[in-house]
Amino acid sequence: MHSWRCYFSRLMRLSVRWFRLCPHQRQGKHFRSIRQLWSYRKVLLNSLYFNILTNWDTVLDSIFEPIYWLVDNLTRWFGVVFVCLVISLTSSVVLIVYLYVLPLIVHTYPTHWVLWHLCYGHWNVVNVVFHYYRAVTTSPGNSPQEKADFPTVTICKKCIVPKPARTHHCSICNTCVLKMDHHCPWLNNCVGHFNHRYFFSFCLYMTMGCIYCSISAKDMFLDAYNAIESYYQTPPPYFTSEEKFFHKSLLYLWVLTSSVAVALGGLTIWHAVLITRGETSVERHINRKERKRRKQIGKAFRNPYHQGAINNWKILFGVEKSSHWITRVLLPSSHPPHGDGITWDCPPHKHQAMDTI
Ligand SMILES: [Zn+2]
Ligand SMILES: [Zn+2]
Repeated sequence: MHSWRCYFSRLMRLSVRWFRLCPHQRQGKHFRSIRQLWSYRKVLLNSLYFNILTNWDTVLDSIFEPIYWLVDNLTRWFGVVFVCLVISLTSSVVLIVYLYVLPLIVHTYPTHWVLWHLCYGHWNVVNVVFHYYRAVTTSPGNSPQEKADFPTVTICKKCIVPKPARTHHCSICNTCVLKMDHHCPWLNNCVGHFNHRYFFSFCLYMTMGCIYCSISAKDMFLDAYNAIESYYQTPPPYFTSEEKFFHKSLLYLWVLTSSVAVALGGLTIWHAVLITRGETSVERHINRKERKRRKQIGKAFRNPYHQGAINNWKILFGVEKSSHWITRVLLPSSHPPHGDGITWDCPPHKHQAMDTI
């Protein structure tokens, strides 16, 4: 901006000087001044965008930058809407269960089944609420901002900080995330090293809860569906507005929980496969490419972070002794994950087997 101000003030000065000259003097100076101004303008223009490292990728990135910015901001904004949606839908389902499903179970089922439903239902809902709250509010962990003594893989081009292994940049959070899995709009947060366990446990308990509601309310759903079904040969029975609300609530409960059980169940199975293989969602793509590349040159690829299927699960849940399967997996627990997310232990046998199929 400063250069352009100089340019215009210089243009004004030259114009004033040119008009003060005699006509015969003007002719010679005229072309010289215009030529000078033209070359000065060219230098100024070049100074605005010239970069020795510029290529077409950089130019395209710069052109699309406003679109990326818009998409990232919209995703961040939609994240808040999605979190409100999860809270309101879950609350509505719990409310319908308390209002209609549990009273029917308590009045019609034998005592041992009533106890089982009360214990299981409450254990499940406590785990869903706890893990969702922790997944949303726990920071996934960010790359250290100052250069420290830790092994780095590369430098983040956007944050300009060293990236430890398994760290990736999230353009929505606009920061580098340790052991980044993905950015989850339903949490409005990235899933990374420090909240991966909360995310997976939430998915698991939510799926289990939806399956439980779907199975428990199946008979009530069928009764409600038959009650509001259109009668073509006989006139429909009369229902009070309270009964109609009861039928619609059960339809809503069953359709919502069954759909979420299928969709979230699929996602949970997918993440369970990734955890068993010792990979994150980002590493899944990177490792697949690397596996293909090494196969072409006759070499095998082994994931350096795969510690064995059972060990991968123990590391994720922080299980160090048998009782932890109950206290740290089945019950809500706030223990921190294994390691700092910056340095990673690789099993020794993984290094040996890298060059052979
Ligand atoms: Zn970054
Ligand atoms: Zn993110």
